Amino acid sequence: MRSVTQTIETVCPACGNKFTMEVYILADAADPGVEDLVVSGAINSARCPHCGYTGRLEVPFAYHDAGHELFLVYFPNNVSLSATDKNQFIGGITEALMKSLPPEKRKGYLLRPKEFLTLQGLAREILHAKGLSDEEIDRLAKQEILLNNLLNDAGDVDKVDELVKRSADLIDERFVLDLLYLVDELKKERQQENAEALDAMVNRVQEETEAGRKVSLFRKQIEKAMRAPSFEEVFDALVEIPESLWPEAAAISDPIVGEEFFTKLAQEIVRSERSDPEKADRLRKMKEVFMERRRTVEEAERKSYAGAQQMVQQLLDAEDVDRKVQELAPEILSHPSFPLALESARVLAEESGNQETLAKLEAIRKSIEKIIFGENPEVALILKLLSVPYPEGVQATLKANKDAITPKFFEALDQVISASQDEEERKLLQNLKTMAMLLS
Ligand SMILES: [Zn+2]
Repeated sequence: MRSVTQTIETVCPACGNKFTMEVYILADAADPGVEDLVVSGAINSARCPHCGYTGRLEVPFAYHDAGHELFLVYFPNNVSLSATDKNQFIGGITEALMKSLPPEKRKGYLLRPKEFLTLQGLAREILHAKGLSDEEIDRLAKQEILLNNLLNDAGDVDKVDELVKRSADLIDERFVLDLLYLVDELKKERQQENAEALDAMVNRVQEETEAGRKVSLFRKQIEKAMRAPSFEEVFDALVEIPESLWPEAAAISDPIVGEEFFTKLAQEIVRSERSDPEKADRLRKMKEVFMERRRTVEEAERKSYAGAQQMVQQLLDAEDVDRKVQELAPEILSHPSFPLALESARVLAEESGNQETLAKLEAIRKSIEKIIFGENPEVALILKLLSVPYPEGVQATLKANKDAITPKFFEALDQVISASQDEEERKLLQNLKTMAMLLS
């Protein structure tokens, strides 16, 4: 049995915006990433597409892990359910689980689900089942608090220093990696806001702790490995990396880990089986970690694309396209799969000759362009100039938009030039400016 989710409509507690999200009714550990979602407390969380507020929706769900014979049910404190409701919920899931499992896997634990009122309690049960002691679980809980404090107080240098000093024994390699990951995510989410403070905090942790120094050294090794001139060298460098950093290495190496990598890994395992069984064992473990990563990435991509498709559908269903685009704008502009989903919808509509949908999709595209460029025609023109071939296309576009070459245009151009990080692009922009000046 795999996880069961349900799409529900919810209201953002911060801004009152209504939006849809998918919640887990049954979270099954057989699905990659699900256990982490539950243990970290991130399950059934959503980000409001309107204001960015992120929070967990407190709904009942069940957790199943066939390997550890766990069947746990979460009934949140603040959701009042009658005994009948609870029994019905459990009964429905038990029945579905029983049906999905082969007879030999239908075991007694499925008839005795454990109920939890807090997610922490449920997470503890999972960690216990995985063989973690109370002490280790307490340590994880303390690390979680430290992580939150570091993120919340990132702007206060003295406080960060004090936290690092006072909790040095909690900062191990795993902790540093989690911190780095979370900071990356936060920076992506909040764009520029607070980024410098977060970077400064991470630097403190990396410089002032043993684990931090180790991780930054290995990260450099991994990055160096990724830049190795041949695939063989990348592979050799990866094999040298300590086991605790494999998940990190797997995450960084996404673009290069394909069929070739796994074939080579399999060959190495066979080759070392006799001569060096220890190495074979190590490589086999490594293969597991990299495969797991790949599954997670594929699953995330699939989910991301499905989300984008849903947005396109919402836009197609909307009576007032402009308004819906406005409403979803932050999500549309930041969604990596949205352009692809929109294009796929267009191709599909074209193939089936659905003129009505085609027209609507075109209206959606125009409406989105209006948002991106509408408020700033100067920037729109600059982007256009950068997208046409140089110099003929640029010359022609400038001529066609002669009226738009205003002082405001030059102002915007100067801004873009000074913000440009790319040497080539800056040169191109400078040439473009000269051409524009000649025309104006
Ligand atoms: Zn909101």
